[in-house]
Amino acid sequence: MNSFTFKNTSLYAEDVALSDIATQFQTPCYVYSKLALTQAFDNFRAGFVGTDHLVCFAVKANPSLAILNLFANLGAGFDIVSGGELARVLAAGGDPNKIVFSGVGKTAAEMQAALNAGIFCFNVESASELIRLNKVAVAMGKVAPVSLRVNPNVDAKTHPYISTGLKNNKFGVAYEDALNIYLQAAAMSNIAIHGVDCHIGSQITELSPFLDAFDKVLDLVDALKQNNIHIRHIDAGGGIGICYSDETPPDFAAYASAMRAKLGERNIKLVFEPGRALVGNAGVLLTKVEYLKHTESKNFAIVDAAMNDLMRPALYDAYHDIKAVKPRDSSAQIYEIVGPVCESGDFLGHDRNLALEEGDLLAIMSAGAYGMSMSSNYNTRPRAAEVMVDDDTCHLIRNRESINELFANEKLLPVTS
Ligand SMILES: *Cc1c(COP(=O)(O)O)cnc(C)c1O
Repeated sequence: MNSFTFKNTSLYAEDVALSDIATQFQTPCYVYSKLALTQAFDNFRAGFVGTDHLVCFAVKANPSLAILNLFANLGAGFDIVSGGELARVLAAGGDPNKIVFSGVGKTAAEMQAALNAGIFCFNVESASELIRLNKVAVAMGKVAPVSLRVNPNVDAKTHPYISTGLKNNKFGVAYEDALNIYLQAAAMSNIAIHGVDCHIGSQITELSPFLDAFDKVLDLVDALKQNNIHIRHIDAGGGIGICYSDETPPDFAAYASAMRAKLGERNIKLVFEPGRALVGNAGVLLTKVEYLKHTESKNFAIVDAAMNDLMRPALYDAYHDIKAVKPRDSSAQIYEIVGPVCESGDFLGHDRNLALEEGDLLAIMSAGAYGMSMSSNYNTRPRAAEVMVDDDTCHLIRNRESINELFANEKLLPVTS
């Protein structure tokens, strides 16, 4: 079910008109549907009922406290990539014992914080990290639960910036080296081997890369067993794509049943780290047309949201559907939808066929993942407000930043005479 639908020719989030949200909270504004978030989480899990599993929402996709809290209440764990995300998850009421900690550059301080919190597992990405983690754990008198993130060298067939499972990228350890590093880990006093981890990329729209990677992970698990290393869980990572325009990503049920079939009789817990698939289509970015500008070759709609609010088009040339909140009957024209930032790369959509007037509202669809979380203050633009809709009620879950906050931490040089 889609939670963003037209009712009486006006776009709604659940039972609240987006135009009412713009009036109440102004634009640009991120709007999320509680129902869509809940359904995405429940649908993801449905295929794993009866299998020991843990769904760890990838916090970086959308770290809003209200969203983390919602998922925590639904029973989710969390995949974090920094000490900052650890603090967020704890502040949002997340269970530390359901946290996996990924990332290639964990600092000693971040390791300490995670050991103190008592997280479920460290996803270790290099032999050096393993040595450091053992040292930190020794100093604290604690034992660190670990998985090694292995790089299965499969092509995720996605954008190169978000493909992580090929040999030549910075993530994980080479598949061929994994057994050796596990044997080193087994000899370390304060490391407990719990799992094998694998995450091959993002916005993957075919099932086969996941299954190829999972086969390789299972081979490794079986080889480890022969070396007397018994794996308790496999972390299959995230990366399931969503539909932005006409993609046909694997449905959760097909994904789940294929994984379960491959796992077979092995007594191993399955861990997942979905990000985009849980939040991407549960949010839109609401923006207002400030100016229409017609040049010889192009029509521009200059809106009040920009690349600092939603970076994906500028960064990955990503496509987001753009809908008029109240479509007009007048004849449509082809528009470049652009923001006010001083960069030619500051666009939200190319060649969109829309009937527009200044002051109209637009919804940038599928903006729930890697939208607000990648936003910045470029051009000294305050970050947008965030609103969560629940049936016919809306809740402000993040205030719009004020301009004064943006330079509150800055200092002038001392006065010299
Ligand atoms: C980004 C990331 C994810 C989530 O990826 P999605 O494509 O949003 O599902 C999961 N695990 C790791 C290690 C990541 O870096």
